[in-house]
Amino acid sequence: METITNTKGMLADFVEELPKVELHLHIEGTLEPELLIALAQRNGVDIPYKTIEAARAAYQFEDLQSFLNVYYLGASVLREERDFYELTLAYMSRCKAQQIRHTELFFDPQTHLANGVALAAVMGGINAALRDAERDWHISSALILCIERDRDPQPAVALLERACALGGIAGIGLDSAELGNPPEKFQEVFKVAKSMGLHRVAHAGEEGPPAYIWQALDVLDVERIDHGVRCLEDPALVRRLVDDRIPLTVCPFSNVALKVFSRLSEHNLGRLLKAGLLATIHSDDPAYFGGYLSENIIETLSDLDLTAEDALLLERNAVEAAFCTDQRKQSLLRDLDQYGASYRNLL
Ligand SMILES: [Zn+2]
Repeated sequence: METITNTKGMLADFVEELPKVELHLHIEGTLEPELLIALAQRNGVDIPYKTIEAARAAYQFEDLQSFLNVYYLGASVLREERDFYELTLAYMSRCKAQQIRHTELFFDPQTHLANGVALAAVMGGINAALRDAERDWHISSALILCIERDRDPQPAVALLERACALGGIAGIGLDSAELGNPPEKFQEVFKVAKSMGLHRVAHAGEEGPPAYIWQALDVLDVERIDHGVRCLEDPALVRRLVDDRIPLTVCPFSNVALKVFSRLSEHNLGRLLKAGLLATIHSDDPAYFGGYLSENIIETLSDLDLTAEDALLLERNAVEAAFCTDQRKQSLLRDLDQYGASYRNLL
């Protein structure tokens, strides 16, 4: 069988229409400057940027913390249930345009609660948009509640229980400032999440050391690692991740914007795949990092001299890593296989 060859133009064409799965996406990170400014005006929230251009110019970061400061400021304009609906529907319409067939979204309820927004408003708006996108565009989705690791772990269990009572939560995640906030601080809430039958993921090994990835696996019993790019520093950890087929949800544009790698051509995605790791590509906070899922895949594969066949592998990995039913996975894999075969026939 002829394999798909790689020029950047062909790769872009191939990836744009490729059926895709997104597994690492913070819904607050999809807040484009246009909506940010509109919501700040509508809700009377005073933010330092008065124009779309000024907001965009502020999206320059030195590290994870400098990004989080801008991200939480942006999230402060989200006040009403309809704000969360509009934000989520705007992202889901991007999914439709980019052939994303299944997406798993993170949200940060503690930020919104601290801003005085009711949990029911946050979840009501997000879940209504997800339902509408499934009905109108056949995009399946799952919602993952993220615990912010730079906050006190103590109230997290009660928050999780309240959110689950409202319905629509598929899993728990751990995000925000990694350094100095090891996964083990959150053992209790992850134990409760498991007892409730929820899926479990955690950001680890982005800025933090491989030890944080071990903790996420052994103490939090996670099923996926978000980022995890620093695992290559520890060969025993790589063996564990390969043997247990633990997915890594890698976000290349994010890693470059936050200086985990100095440029895309230095990203270790190719080495992760070569090591046999179940790596996938996602967009993390696309409004802040310069591109959505298609752009992340196209630019990364192009800069690393990877091919359209690698794009297919990444999407097969993402289907395997997804928290959807086996039936849905079979359907997604069939679409991928058909797409690959029809593209090869054109060559
Ligand atoms: Zn993330």
